[in-house]
Amino acid sequence: MALIVQKFGGSSVSDAESIKRVAKRIVDTRKAGNEVVVAVSAMGDSTDELLDLAHEVTPIPAPRELDMLLTAGERISMALLAMAIKSMGYDARSFTGSQAGMITDAQHGAARIVDVTPGRLRDALDDGAIVIVAGFQGFNRDTRDITTLGRGGSDTTAVALAAALGADICEIYTDVDGIFTADPRVVPRAHKLDRVSSEEMLELAAAGAKVLYIRAVEYARRHGVTLHVRSSFNNNDGTIVYNNSTPDVNGDPVEEPIIAGVAADLSEAKVTVVGVPDVPGKAAQIFKIVAKTNANVDMIVQNVSAAATGRTDISFTLPKSEGQQVLTALKNEQENVGYLGLQYDDQIGKLALVGAGMRTNTGVSAKLFEALFEAGINIEMISTSEIRISVVTRADTINEALRVVHTAFGLDDDNEAQVHGGTGR
Ligand code: ADP
Ligand code: ASP
Ligand code: MG
Repeated sequence: MALIVQKFGGSSVSDAESIKRVAKRIVDTRKAGNEVVVAVSAMGDSTDELLDLAHEVTPIPAPRELDMLLTAGERISMALLAMAIKSMGYDARSFTGSQAGMITDAQHGAARIVDVTPGRLRDALDDGAIVIVAGFQGFNRDTRDITTLGRGGSDTTAVALAAALGADICEIYTDVDGIFTADPRVVPRAHKLDRVSSEEMLELAAAGAKVLYIRAVEYARRHGVTLHVRSSFNNNDGTIVYNNSTPDVNGDPVEEPIIAGVAADLSEAKVTVVGVPDVPGKAAQIFKIVAKTNANVDMIVQNVSAAATGRTDISFTLPKSEGQQVLTALKNEQENVGYLGLQYDDQIGKLALVGAGMRTNTGVSAKLFEALFEAGINIEMISTSEIRISVVTRADTINEALRVVHTAFGLDDDNEAQVHGGTGR
């Protein structure tokens, strides 16, 4: 008997009809002779709606209470799903994150899983029941409080359950047919990948492809869990996210395409520290100040200093949500550092081109820059890793940038991709 973990995202359980449809799918998996554990997200956009509500009550909701509020969303969907399955004559039991043994650290809003103790789930499976677990939530032993794993965290719940229970496969059901070469909502000619390495998927997720949550990909990679991302609206095969250990379909290694895909991120802003004295130690001083705020700095660019002034500009990107605190911290130290001014720009977009084949192929950057140039899109910053090239452009050109780069690298499909549901929120 195989053990299958299935995760259903919010768009797959957005109303009563969808919940019944998903219940049927789960029951079919059970009927085929498998043990089934399900991680479920909150219905539709209900997490966003709860978040909006909290911000109507107060601009800065207390993190502990926000987690209490948001975890309510998954409680609703897990209970409804279990009811629907029971009404079809199959035993099902729902569990909150803490009942399921999802033990996390105490960081509200972005807790990390530190242990999984799925004893109650194993017992329920042994009784022949289908297990439904609320995604996105956990429990901290020291504070004895409920936590959440960060937006999109139900993916991590599913992967952690798969690892802890030794599942044969972890299926991530969503509103598109799998992982595409670009977000099919923005690039209609994106094509579905049959397989992608976890290394490439990590880069794509980090660059804004929210089809999988980055921490879930990391967790799967570390624990050797194979993922199958597929649509909950049809029975088509989706995309396998494989670790190096995953055997190939035919048993032989396949030549991977050079480029796996492109992704975009509009959640970052650019800070420029203007007129920094060009002497040793200034960059260290600036980034020490930034690090103290715990901000996640991504790209960094230092200009050549102007000979006449002996000063230079240093720019970096970071999540918009961390912008104000970093600006305040830098302002407080302006005299110490000796820079002339600060600029803040939250109208940037970041595009990333990802592919393991970049390691062995030259000319990839030239082709990327050429495609953007031909479309009249200005590049403001560039950074590269072994398998990724990222550029910053104006936010309002990012979708066009995605499409022209997608075309330039020959990734366009003959047909338009299907998006089954969801609002893309
Ligand atoms: P769920 O509610 O199932 O967790 P999400 O909205 O979190 O679904 O993720 C699915 C969405 O991710 C898709 O609807 C699609 O718009 C978006 N997406 C972004 N990049 C990609 C990509 N490369 N491949 C597929 N989907 C992508
Ligand atoms: N409901 C949570 C969110 O919207 C978790 C998830 O869907 O994965 O972020
Ligand atoms: Mg998601």
